[in-house]
Amino acid sequence: MTPHVDSQAGAAVKAADRAHVFHSWSAQGLIDPLAVAGAEGSYFWDYEGNRYLDFASGLVFTNIGYQHPKVVAAIQEQAATLSTFAPAFAVEARSEAARLIAERTPGDLDKIFFTNGGAEAVENAVRMARLHTGRHKVLAAYRSYHGGTTTAINLTGDPRRWASDNGTSGTVHFWGPFLYRSPFYAETEAQECARALQHLEDTIAFEGPAAIAAIVLETIPGTAGIMTPPPGYLAGVREICDRYGIVFVLDEVMAGFGRTGKWFASEHFDVVPDLMTFAKGVNSGYVPLGGVAISAEIAETFDKRPYPGGLTYSGHPLACAAAVATLRVMEEEGVVENAARIGETVIAPGLRELAERHPSIGEIRGTGMFWALDLVKDRETREPLVPYNATGEANAPMAAFGAACKKNGLWPFINMNRTHVVPPCNVTEAEAKEGLAVLDTALSAADEHTTA
Ligand code: PLP
Repeated sequence: MTPHVDSQAGAAVKAADRAHVFHSWSAQGLIDPLAVAGAEGSYFWDYEGNRYLDFASGLVFTNIGYQHPKVVAAIQEQAATLSTFAPAFAVEARSEAARLIAERTPGDLDKIFFTNGGAEAVENAVRMARLHTGRHKVLAAYRSYHGGTTTAINLTGDPRRWASDNGTSGTVHFWGPFLYRSPFYAETEAQECARALQHLEDTIAFEGPAAIAAIVLETIPGTAGIMTPPPGYLAGVREICDRYGIVFVLDEVMAGFGRTGKWFASEHFDVVPDLMTFAKGVNSGYVPLGGVAISAEIAETFDKRPYPGGLTYSGHPLACAAAVATLRVMEEEGVVENAARIGETVIAPGLRELAERHPSIGEIRGTGMFWALDLVKDRETREPLVPYNATGEANAPMAAFGAACKKNGLWPFINMNRTHVVPPCNVTEAEAKEGLAVLDTALSAADEHTTA
């Protein structure tokens, strides 16, 4: 399939969408979704023949790009042989997916509970931690995103929680490390790390260590700004969890499966959690799938005692067949290594070069295929280019930047005052350079709103 013009078909898709589809996180009357006609590799296109390089990987999930023929074939084959089966049975696609995932997760995270996505994975990780410890409170970081369901949205440390907070008890937020906008007024990574760990210790002391079931953290917080923690921070959290008998949950829904140039982001820090949540890249998002990888100790809690949780489509054969094929493709085609290499040799130097010429770039940060540009009004004060959670006119500079990207054939990931550079992990060098060139043009629109 290649881009071609079919305005009538596009208009029909759009009309049905506007009449009947109720979209996520949106004021329904203010949105104008693009009608998508097709996609392949790192690109997708609309019905007007416009083609976009997807520097957002959908919602950071197409880690091997769109329509990989081997994954499409695996889904078709599974559909032809056994398209669905209830979760209580042993099914080849499910057991093989679990085996391949467990082989890649660190340490003894060898049992896999399957869900349909990331939020359900977080819900179940919290439930497992509460049942394992017999405690209720869960600590999570500000500047985080854990999903849109009840527990997951309450853990989330961004404005989306405000309207959804239903008063669920037991969620406590604390500040994680983020040197560029340090909540601890730190000037070095070492200071930020030490102060963040002390702050966590203080939070635990005042919440009551014996009341805390879990600490839930994104290994590298993604949606909230791709904030790589300083060396020693996650090891410090691990030590605190061990000291107080708290379950350490690392959420790798966005950072996992090659995104950071390793299979899991936790490998950068040599830290093994007790529970790890995943979704998205596990099968490049071709069929909804997520899960929790469970340590031997927590799995043992539910050896003789039933785990009170489950989903009709847990480990759906189509989703698991897509995962098996995706993981094999990632291995055969060196996708994780590609993310590390293109990140280091093309994206990192390319973004550094852009930062030299564009005053709107306050900071670039990231690794692999996981980068953020923190756009500012003023480099000295680090005032964000648009106010926190800006809408309408207040968001005009970011809207202008986004429009310039799209006009030049790049689909960006934009969140508040940031644009994230998160292309597929198998992006080619030429595609990465093409995207950087469009960012160069579009950043001029942001520069116009920068004073320095
Ligand atoms: N956790 C993290 C770190 C995420 O980035 C997301 C989604 O972006 C989720 C959980 C929720 O996943 P889902 O949207 O599949 O429920």
